[in-house]
Amino acid sequence: MSQDQAITRSALVISAHAADFVWRCGGAIALHAQAGVKVTVVCLSYGERGESAKLWKQPGMTLERVKAARRAEARAAAQALGVHELIEFDMGDYPLEFSREHKVRLVQVMRDAQPDFMLSHSLYDPYNSDHMLTTQVVLECRSIAQAWGHEPGQKVLGAPQLYLFEPHQTEQMGWKPDVFLDITPVWDRKRAAIECMAGQEHLWDFYTRVAQNRANHFTRNSGGQGGGQACAYAEAFQSVFPRTVGAL
Ligand SMILES: [Zn+2]
Repeated sequence: MSQDQAITRSALVISAHAADFVWRCGGAIALHAQAGVKVTVVCLSYGERGESAKLWKQPGMTLERVKAARRAEARAAAQALGVHELIEFDMGDYPLEFSREHKVRLVQVMRDAQPDFMLSHSLYDPYNSDHMLTTQVVLECRSIAQAWGHEPGQKVLGAPQLYLFEPHQTEQMGWKPDVFLDITPVWDRKRAAIECMAGQEHLWDFYTRVAQNRANHFTRNSGGQGGGQACAYAEAFQSVFPRTVGAL
């Protein structure tokens, strides 16, 4: 993309917990940020109850201490990835619950960011209802942000694609990727962000292997040994909305 296009482009990531945006789309964030795209990340919670087991195993741990640790990790990871703005809703997790005010706030974030594309969780996740609730609300807020009758006078949202990033146990989520993104140029930045997640060290190498396996799929789908583009690390996404094209 040209620099002129890049300056005007923006992206919005909605992450249920503090670390999700790192494992699942850290490469996409770093790649676009490096190209000048303004990437806003919304962290709805810090994953303080449900995704912080290592911290809770320490004696005398409190909710506030867990939150502080996860907050610091998320901010460090966002910085490593080049996030333009990290917005922390601090809604609490397990369960994540949306009030009307939370939804109105998310609609406003969408209108303010005017993203060219958005990223969030898989539509279905029987292991983690916070994740699938997030996507349901993201879709609800996307349509409210498009409504001319909601806060009339504001600039309404266009029709940004919603890419669903890769869940943890892919097949169980009914998630089927249709986009593979080469993140090789920014892999070092994603790995650095991953390593900010001290509370989930058991996932560092797992998500490195995921990126390597998706790179193999990237190469095969770009032509394989018949001229495919070499790729060492990739992320995969499932798009919700159809693409509008002038040619195939
Ligand atoms: Zn999560």
